[in-house]
This record gives sequence, structure tokens and C-alpha cells, in this order.
Amino acid sequence: MTPTRLGPYTIGNRLGRGGMGAVYEAVDEATGQTVALKTLVAHLGDDPGLRRRFAAEIEVLKTLRHPGIVQLLAFGEQDGHPYFAMELVPGKSLEQMLRAGRRFSWRETVDVALEIARALKSAHDHGVVHRDLKPANLLFADMPEADVTVKLADFGIARLFGDSGQTQAGTIVGTAEYMAPEQAAGRVIDHRVDLYALGLVMYAMLTGRPPFQARQMTEVLQRQQREPAPRVSTVVADVPAELDGIIDRLLAKDPDQRPQSALAVGRLLAPLAVSAQPSAARDAAAPDASGAQPTDHGSADQQTVVRGVKPREANVNLLAATREFTPGDRATPVVVAATNRNVRPNAATAPAPPGTDLARRATEPDPVTRRPPAATGNRFTTLEELHRTSAAEALGRRSRERRWQVLGAVAILALLLAGAFVLAQPPSADQLQARITAIAVDADADLRDARPLIELFLARYGSDPRAAEIRNLQRSLDLDALERRSRRRPRDEEGMTALEREYRAAMAREAESPLACLAALEAIVALHGDDAATTSVPADDSPDLWLALVRRQIGRVAPLATREREEDLARAAATLAEAATLAAAADAAGAAADRERLLERRRTLLEGLIELYASRTHAAEAVAQARQLLGSP
Ligand code: ADP
Repeated sequence: MTPTRLGPYTIGNRLGRGGMGAVYEAVDEATGQTVALKTLVAHLGDDPGLRRRFAAEIEVLKTLRHPGIVQLLAFGEQDGHPYFAMELVPGKSLEQMLRAGRRFSWRETVDVALEIARALKSAHDHGVVHRDLKPANLLFADMPEADVTVKLADFGIARLFGDSGQTQAGTIVGTAEYMAPEQAAGRVIDHRVDLYALGLVMYAMLTGRPPFQARQMTEVLQRQQREPAPRVSTVVADVPAELDGIIDRLLAKDPDQRPQSALAVGRLLAPLAVSAQPSAARDAAAPDASGAQPTDHGSADQQTVVRGVKPREANVNLLAATREFTPGDRATPVVVAATNRNVRPNAATAPAPPGTDLARRATEPDPVTRRPPAATGNRFTTLEELHRTSAAEALGRRSRERRWQVLGAVAILALLLAGAFVLAQPPSADQLQARITAIAVDADADLRDARPLIELFLARYGSDPRAAEIRNLQRSLDLDALERRSRRRPRDEEGMTALEREYRAAMAREAESPLACLAALEAIVALHGDDAATTSVPADDSPDLWLALVRRQIGRVAPLATREREEDLARAAATLAEAATLAAAADAAGAAADRERLLERRRTLLEGLIELYASRTHAAEAVAQARQLLGSP
């Protein structure tokens, strides 16, 4: 017994009945919308396998949205009856039309096939293989506003690619007359079974029936696998060779020999499409409205009354006109145990995944439709609501992703900041000292490169025990700078301090006599020693700095002066000794001339000594001795 109400729907006339369910016209009492409502037939409602398959059809339809595919509107369960509502397609199925004797011209066939190919492409793109494409599932829409003529229905055994399969191993699901060989053999199938079925549908549109029919279904299945379909052109006249060839390729037993996709089929058919007569197929969809509905099985005359198709162009199906349908050959869905040993589970029907909307319990009024909550155990979900939920879920997912992205970005930023912080950290006293020392001891390095490090050390670690040593380095850098400046300065530059002038004068003597230079430097210290400021950080050219430079020069020149003095004294002593030797030789000389020559030589030596060393205080004693010796011949 069929319930009179399911969810918000009041059930009306039955539109059709299939393998597992019945389809009714129904009205949504809340919105007034007329829909096609599919439900499991009452006595099958308890079969868990069928319930799963029914739920799977809903799952598949949820993923599909295409003008050439019947649109799912809502789904639910009422008192144990699962159901779903879809758009109502007014009109007839292709099967009804064929049974009524309707035949299609090759142009109409091409137009309709193109539409089916587009719908199949959309389904395939969404990972759905229909697996049961046949005239009964092609609804000709009597909808002038619709932009399609035909809509694909009944995804009851459709399978999502990659679905592991829920039907028993070794079962074949489908309709024998429209079943691809690989499907009939129970082999693994893919979207190309739908392309084979499309070839058969086209064949049937043109000829009135599919190529393989027999009283025994097993025979049909065997013929699908083994027997080549006769060329359409051998059955129907006036079919272009191209179309004949396309159908033949679609009916290839080997899926690899068929066009490989619905898109490819569309591309093959497109050049044959009759764009100048787009109304032909649509008119064909509404034979009642045209008032020219054929009444028997397609005589040639009846073919010619299709609106929009000229008699000459109409398909003349001589053979079909004389044949009868085999009684009971209505293409019914088949579920047979496969006899083939190679059978593999391929007829998948996914159960309603736990937690899907099918299992969702509507306990609150729908915020959009304001529907009252369903009775406990009953469920109802509109597609709109489903999309809203998935949109909300997608939004939630996106916001979660965004949150993770933000967290990731924050973590990276934190790492960068931490790195920058570590890098920005000043080096420790040890590190600084090590770097300064490395420069200071490197003979090739310029100590000036160490100045920033020295300044940093003193600024940060002024109280470190090593600060005094570093300060000395700084001082020495300052003195170097002062020395360089003084050397570069022009002699007569204005603004020179007395200290600097004296320093420069002292240093100018060094080349001639380090001793004289030293004496001058020491004189500066003696004169200005008290000028030294006590400040530890002297200004650039403070007296303190100049005196420090003077002292440093004293330290450097002193050894040179000592050596000079020693050399002077040694030479003076040697000269005096030679003068004494010459005096003794003169005393001993026999000849007066020799004596005179030796004394002359002695005088020259002593005068030279006096001349050279007279101004040198350290040689004063030798000079005095020379003078005395000169006085006594
Ligand atoms: P089953 O899966 O039980 O075979 P179908 O989905 O093929 O059921 O539907 C059975 C019949 O119901 C169709 O052949 C068609 O005549 C009719 N039908 C199905 N869906 C619609 C629809 N959306 N609008 C109008 N009629 C429909």
C-alpha cells in the first residue's frame, strides 16, 4: 500500500514504476510545488540492499546539477518509507514514444544524442557512471521554457567511480538490451558503458528497437558480448555514412575501440547536428500536443507527420514498420547471478554513508521553509538546505583552513622575529674581545677596523676587567689618528696649537738625529707636562692627547737615540785612538817629510771630530780631548 502522504508531499498519480520503486506525481503542501516523487515500493521497503541502493541514488543525484539530468529537490523518510523528490518532467519517456511507434529521423537522433552526450559528460565529470542508460530513463521534456529536449533519469544503479561496490560479487545489474558487453560479462566497467548504451539508444531511435533482443535474457547478454550489431544503414535508409560509422564505433565490443569520452562523442556528432531545425526533436517530445501522435508501430506515413520535419527528410523505417515487438520485451532492469567465472563485483551501490543528510533528523522547523518538525523517526531535507549545510561546512572548513594559515603565518613570523632578535643581540664581552684581539694581532689588519668593536665593548662592558686593555687600544687608535693628521697638515696652517707646532718641530729632527729629536720631545714634556688634562676621554686634540703622542714618540725614538749616542762615542773614541797612533808614528819617523805628513793627517782627523761632534753634548768629552790634542803638536 502506498502512503498518501510522504513528508510534506501529498501523493498523486503514479507516473511510472521501475525495478525497485514507483514514481508519483506529488504536491509539496508547504510550497505548492508539483514534483516527481520516487519511493521504494512498499513490499521492498524492508530489503536492506534495496534501501542502500535507494540511498545511493540520492547520494549520486546530490552531486549532479545539469539541465539534461532530472534535478533532485529533496529527500527524506516517512514511517519507514524512504523517498526523494525531483523535478517533474512532463512528457513521455523515449521508451513510451518508441512503443507508441514513434521513430526519429537521423537529424532528430543526432540532436537528442548530442543532448544525452552533454548530460553524460556532466555525470562522468562528477565521477558518476549511469550504467542503465536506456529509453525508459530518457524523459522527453514537454517544457517549452527548458533548454533541453531530453532529461536523463533513474540513477538507481549509477555508480560513483572508485566506489568499492555494495552489490554481491558475480551479479550483473542493468538492462540486458542496453547493456555493454563488459557489463554483461560482469567485468570491471567504466564510463564507456554509457557510451555503448548511447549507441544502442540511437540505434533504437532510428530503427525502433535495440539490435539485440531475444526471449531469454541470457541470450541477449550473450549476443551483446559476441554478436556484432548490424549496421544501422542496413536497417534504415537515409542514414548518413558518418552517423552510421559513429553508431558502429559506439557499439564496439572492446571499450578501447569506442570514442573514449562523452565529450569525444559530442565532437563527432556536432558536425551532423541540424542547427537550422532545432525544433524538430522538441516537437517530437510533445507528440500529443502536435495532434499527430502515431497510433501504431511507426509506419512510414506516420513518420512524416512530425512537426518541423519535411516528409522527404523524415526517417523511413521500412523494416521496423513490419516488425512487432516481442511480447514482454520491455526493457526491464536485470539483476542476474552471473554465470561467467570471471565475474567481479562491479555493480556498486553505495549505502547512505553514516552521518549523511539522509540520516539527519529534522527536529527543528526549517529556518527557510518554516516547515514544522517531522514526527520522531521521520526525516526530510531539501536540496537547498543540503547545499546551505554544505556551504556552511565549506565555509567552516575554509575558515578553519584560514585559521591554520594565519597560525602558520604567525608561527613563521615569530620564528623570524626570534631569529632577528638573536641576531640583533649584541655580542658578548668575550666575543667582542676575541674579535678585537684578532684584528690587533694580525700584522696585515688595520686596527682602525676594530674601532667600532672597541667602542661597542667600552659602551657595553665598561666595567669589565678587560676594559682597561681595550681602552689602551682605543687610545692607541686615537694617537695614530692624531699622528696621521699632524703629518698631513700643511706646515703653516692656522690654528695650530703651540704643543702641536713643537711636536712637529721635534719630529722634524728625527731624520737627522734621533738624539736631537728625543731631546726636543723630552723638552716638550718638561715644558707642558702639567697641561695634561685629567679626563679619561680626551678631546680630539687636547694637550693630554698631544702629550700622550709625544710620550709615545719618546718611547719609540729613545732606542734610536741610544744607538746614535753609542755610535758617536765609538767613532769619536776610534778617531782619538787613530790620532794617538799617528802621533806615535810621527815621533818614530826618521825623515822630516814623513813626520810632517803623519802629523798633518792627525790634525785633519781631530778637526773633523771637533767639527762633527761639537754640537753633540754626549760627545763633549771627546771634542774637548781632541781640542787639547790639537793644541799640543
Ligand atoms: P526505477 O528506478 O524504479 O526504474 P525510474 O526512475 O526509472 O524508476 O522511474 C520510473 C518511471 O517513472 C520512468 O520511466 C518515468 O516514466 C517516470 N519518471 C521517473 N522520474 C520522473 C520525473 N522526474 N518526471 C516524470 N516522470 C518520471
